[in-house]
Amino acid sequence: MVGAKGGVASTATLGLVALQRGGIVPVGMVSQLPLFQQLGLADWDRFVIAGHDIRRVPLIDEVLRMAGESRIALASVAEQCRTELEQIDERIRPGTIFGVGETIAALADLEMPRDETPRQAVERLGRDMAEFVRTEKLSHLVVVNVASTEPPVDVSKLPTRWTEFEPLLDLGRQCPLPASSLYAIAALEAGYSYINFTPSLGDAPAAIDELARLRGACHYGCDGKTGETLMKSVLAPMFTRRNLQVMSWVGHNIFGNMDGRVLDDPANKRTKVDSKDRLVREILGYRPKTLVSIEYVSDLGDWKTAWDHIHFAGFLGVPMTLQFTWQGSDSFLAAPLVLDLARLTELARRRGHVGAMPFLASFFKSPHGASEHRFDRQFLMLEQWAEEVAKSEDQKSS
Ligand code: NAD
Repeated sequence: MVGAKGGVASTATLGLVALQRGGIVPVGMVSQLPLFQQLGLADWDRFVIAGHDIRRVPLIDEVLRMAGESRIALASVAEQCRTELEQIDERIRPGTIFGVGETIAALADLEMPRDETPRQAVERLGRDMAEFVRTEKLSHLVVVNVASTEPPVDVSKLPTRWTEFEPLLDLGRQCPLPASSLYAIAALEAGYSYINFTPSLGDAPAAIDELARLRGACHYGCDGKTGETLMKSVLAPMFTRRNLQVMSWVGHNIFGNMDGRVLDDPANKRTKVDSKDRLVREILGYRPKTLVSIEYVSDLGDWKTAWDHIHFAGFLGVPMTLQFTWQGSDSFLAAPLVLDLARLTELARRRGHVGAMPFLASFFKSPHGASEHRFDRQFLMLEQWAEEVAKSEDQKSS
């Protein structure tokens, strides 16, 4: 995991270790649904975690902080998992802060090579990944980006062919690529999979998709769909199907975890707001007035409250309102999806899938290249993929 000590990563890590120890109910995990039980998904005890981060803090301290901040009585579970968490911590290596912007760079307190070129960073990260695969005798590696959200990069200004894109790595400080893309290149170059759970640039450039296809690797993103945006992708189709005219959709989000602190920087916030705002317009097919705000309120910790106000016109233009509030622990919503994505990606790759994985669109706010944002339709794509996999498993066994 990139950002292996953050809220999402440490919660996913604790969850995986707890699953491996047995005795927890896998609520909130998509891959545990009956539909996915005949596909040959890898068992949880076959997964091993390692990662990169830029902070020195021990993983166990982050897990205990998360439990404390979330006011969730998980300290005893974390203590039971202490040995495994300490072993995982030893496999977390210094990452790169190339192109992450000032706010993220200010979090970094680990010794990291500060003057390496982007190419040197890619090579170093790639060596760490290869060493992990070798030492743990892994059949495959899925790199999941759960690091802080970077400021936006204009993807339309980047070369679309890998042969013209790759020399950007030699531009030194002028290289426009942020860390999330350097991790993606390091992973895909070696044929490993890459999943971008954040709205950062990551694997979005067309040239990085080409790299993945050239190396026979899988990738997808971006930005996990876990709360308010999940609700939008469920509710917006209802307005279209009943021919109700949405006039405005305003969503206010308040929360107080470290992700919230980073998103308090207007540059980093812009990446997230764009990702949260786009989908209402795309589902409705017209442009109501929309507003998304994200505010950092430190005392809320990991508990996010989203309040959405939807103003719409019904028969004879009569104005009406739908409001909802969503309150959830951000990391505990995201963590099971991170584990599901690693598990589904490993299966896709084992079955020979190459390139983008649009059947995973339901997991993301801004799925690459997708014009379908309705949650039920996206989930249907996942079901269809699962049915195809199940059918070919049946053929293999008969
Ligand atoms: P967090 O701030 O708790 O954790 C981020 C971690 O990334 C930190 O440990 C930080 O040190 C590390 N990091 C930052 N830059 C790095 C780099 N260049 N290389 C390696 N490590 C780096 O954030 P979080 O709540 O865990 O969220 C993680 C990401 O997932 C964010 O980008 C967030 O926007 C995204 N996300 C979260 C949710 C959710 O529901 N929680 C949903 C969708 C997307």
